Amino acid sequence: MTAMPQLVAAFHSLVGMAAVLVGAAAFLNPSAFGIVDSAGAILGPSRIEMILGVAIGAITFSGSVIAFLKLNGNMSGKPILLPARHWINLAIVVAIAFFSFGFWHSQSPMDFWLVMALAFAIGFLLIVPIGGADMPVVISMLNSYSGWAAAAMGFTLHNSAMIITGALVGSSGAILSYIMCRAMNRSFISVIAGGFGGDSAAAGGGEVIDRPYKRGSAEDAAFLMSQADQVIIVPGYGMAVSQAQHALREMADLLKEQGVRVKYAIHPVAGRMPGHMNVLLAEANVPYDEVFELEDINSEFAQTDVAFVIGANDVTNPAAKTDKSSPIYGMPVLDVEKARTVLFVKRSMGGVGYAGVDNELFYRDNTMMLLADAKKMVEEIVKNIG
Ligand code: NDP
Repeated sequence: MTAMPQLVAAFHSLVGMAAVLVGAAAFLNPSAFGIVDSAGAILGPSRIEMILGVAIGAITFSGSVIAFLKLNGNMSGKPILLPARHWINLAIVVAIAFFSFGFWHSQSPMDFWLVMALAFAIGFLLIVPIGGADMPVVISMLNSYSGWAAAAMGFTLHNSAMIITGALVGSSGAILSYIMCRAMNRSFISVIAGGFGGDSAAAGGGEVIDRPYKRGSAEDAAFLMSQADQVIIVPGYGMAVSQAQHALREMADLLKEQGVRVKYAIHPVAGRMPGHMNVLLAEANVPYDEVFELEDINSEFAQTDVAFVIGANDVTNPAAKTDKSSPIYGMPVLDVEKARTVLFVKRSMGGVGYAGVDNELFYRDNTMMLLADAKKMVEEIVKNIG
């Protein structure tokens, strides 16, 4: 499950490359595709479909390769910002439009290959500056691009099934991107332009702060939660990595037996893919009526005794609300700090969230750090509650 996002990115890159290769094949041997007129020239509409498919396919390919490398940890989640990147991107987009027109007009091979090369470059340049926290939008955006690339190639291949499925993927990906943008409080236009949130990330930096913090044990956590009226569990990527969901459910069951109200708060981008936490909790048979979306539960933290944050970091980081220089600024977050006590399960103080920024909550008076692998810690807590 944790490797699924990079797998999806890899699949998108294959769709992009397939579109480029089909486009190149159609260009090199148009008569085999039945897209030539009596004089042997490629039909006008086919030229448009072909160049569109190649351009979108190339952007999808190089963008998805970068997304794969970032999600797989081969490249840092921190944004890489080139100077004047918006101008460079704009110049490349204008050049792609210019050479595409040239290809449509004169069927020039030079224009065709230039469009392809520039589209590969722009895909790379659009995704490189995007920071880890914004990757969910990138995945759905590339999903959409891959659909449009396939649809364009469907026209070249005279394949209605490809046109229809490509359009379905393209439009549903665009809708998902829009929904993700709203969840992340990002503008759709700046997503399309690429590198959104990037300028602030450069300023944000996100060094790990060396400050005193309170460290607790499984016994402390078990005691605090058994005494509580209400506990809200906030799962994140770390829960997925350690596969702690079954132990977590066991812990919640024991707490409920002791009369504690237990709820789960799900952030829309917790984990590494949309719905990641919901799937894991459902796998552990957590009752649906205990699982709440951010906007439905955020106001409840103030009346909650314990917020049990297990492997979540960015989605709780108050820098998103207060620090304009942070790469996650503007993203809605779970207000866990309003709970009387916040328990954070993570392996070390050194590990930052995916966006690469430290979380100031770790050092607050009402926070207790439970430093261990999530599954091991929850199993220990279960022993201490039982
Ligand atoms: P984060 O990636 O911000 O934090 C994960 C935390 O889990 C870290 O603090 C890490 O600390 C801890 N952790 C890792 N492994 C373990 C383990 N085995 N046991 C215990 N703790 C562990 O996760 P969030 O869920 O809070 O946020 C998701 C981030 O990913 C957001 O920035 C989001 O934008 C981004 N994203 C989301 C996607 C989506 O669609 N949902 C897609 C792509 C990116 P330590 O290393 O110290 O243990």
